[in-house]
Amino acid sequence: MQTILEQLIFEKSSPGRRAAILPAAGTSEKPITDLLPKKYVHEKPLALPEVSELEVMRHFVRLSQLNHAIDTGFYPLGSCTMKYNPKINDALAALDGFRELHPHQPEEQVQGALELIWNLQEAIGEIVGLPAVTLQPAAGAHGELTGLLMIKAYFDNRSDFKRTKVIVPDTAHGTNPATAAMAGFEVVEIKSNDRGHVDINALKAVLGPDCAAIMLTNPNTLGLFEEEITEVQKLIHEAGALLYYDGANLNAIMGLVRPGDMGFDVCHLNLHKTFSTPHGGGGPGGCAVAVRDRLEPFLPVPVVSKSGDRYFFDKERPLSIGKIKGFYGNFGILVRAYAFILAHGRDGLCQVSRDAILNANYLKEKLKENYQIPYPQPCMHEFVASGIWQKERGVTTTNIGKRLLDFGMHAPTVYFPLVVPEAMMIEPTETESKQTLDEFVAIMKDIDRETKESPDTVRNAPHTTPVGRLDEALAARKPNLRF
Ligand SMILES: *Cc1c(COP(=O)(O)O)cnc(C)c1O
Repeated sequence: MQTILEQLIFEKSSPGRRAAILPAAGTSEKPITDLLPKKYVHEKPLALPEVSELEVMRHFVRLSQLNHAIDTGFYPLGSCTMKYNPKINDALAALDGFRELHPHQPEEQVQGALELIWNLQEAIGEIVGLPAVTLQPAAGAHGELTGLLMIKAYFDNRSDFKRTKVIVPDTAHGTNPATAAMAGFEVVEIKSNDRGHVDINALKAVLGPDCAAIMLTNPNTLGLFEEEITEVQKLIHEAGALLYYDGANLNAIMGLVRPGDMGFDVCHLNLHKTFSTPHGGGGPGGCAVAVRDRLEPFLPVPVVSKSGDRYFFDKERPLSIGKIKGFYGNFGILVRAYAFILAHGRDGLCQVSRDAILNANYLKEKLKENYQIPYPQPCMHEFVASGIWQKERGVTTTNIGKRLLDFGMHAPTVYFPLVVPEAMMIEPTETESKQTLDEFVAIMKDIDRETKESPDTVRNAPHTTPVGRLDEALAARKPNLRF
């Protein structure tokens, strides 16, 4: 820890040192302290670090280097789609005409922004095969909540109050059951079959007139496409329930298959992950929720609509679930997503998914001699390996993930999905080269060899990072954010 503490900016402070010399505040007659009401004037200057511009710059650049980042190394964090997001899309979102907009500006002044939102709604509707879209939610889980509230409003509007259950497979992302519970539903979990798919008999056993919906990810979190999706959708619709598609990982299917065509009624997709904003970078996210016609009246207000050549906020929607976020969504993220879609076009988006699938299958085949692959059939954009062979030698999946950091690569998502012991969920994405993938394979094979020849090297990893093992639970539960 000492090295990091030494780098803290307060230690660099030196009285009187400044990054910028500003003219004194106030007027030529009176200093600012005489002009302000007394209660707003500090008696003592704030205890801020006194540092030069160069020191500030070095401080922040060094901090940025203490962490692993997609801009510095491979990041195969499954289900997070940590791909390269073109910098030009950041530049576009930062154009004055977008950045300087104020959300309270009148409609006539923001026609360009509304046009962008409308065009993006249309494009996403086309990509997922569902006609009505909102871009208001701030992230994936927020989109799930929006979707389930709409499903609830839909049944309430039909006075069908007995539908209290939402079905969720055991491979689901944790946000699915959490969302269903938060929206006031009872969560019914169903087991997957031995091929990692929805078990049709298990589904039939729980289906009934009290079911509101099923939440599915396709491909599921094992990276497998639910081949029996047509059968699933038939059963659900016959029971009078709806199908919710968790499209957080749309990177797997763009241009290849559409949730609307699979029979889903509601679908959310993460604009971070697939559409040019990094996931988990700590910054804002964005989410689109697309629905079938019969759910359209329940979209959150306002809906961006078009009449002739004019775009406007449609607020007169009596059945709407209301507002679910301040203003109209994270606009900067929408600009990036729109730019990404326009730059790729239909064929380009299709190619993104094809390359993502190819890269994942390549890694799966290359790693299968050294790591157990519990579901060996062809995968989509990601696959799950297991570290149980290594565990038998006393080295855990956590150890393997930590050891990867020594080689400048991020760990896969570990211990998820829960149905695979010692799970390593690996998602290479389409933006990585064959060289990088081969390098990852070579490192993974080396680590496997180490688990036989020098297991302590892996057990005590990482050896080269600024900090070693952190108490992640303590950091999350009792974060110490003060200096
Ligand atoms: C990432 C993810 C989510 C949640 O998205 P957030 O933006 O992190 O809330 C939901 N489902 C799946 C399958 C995911 O991969």
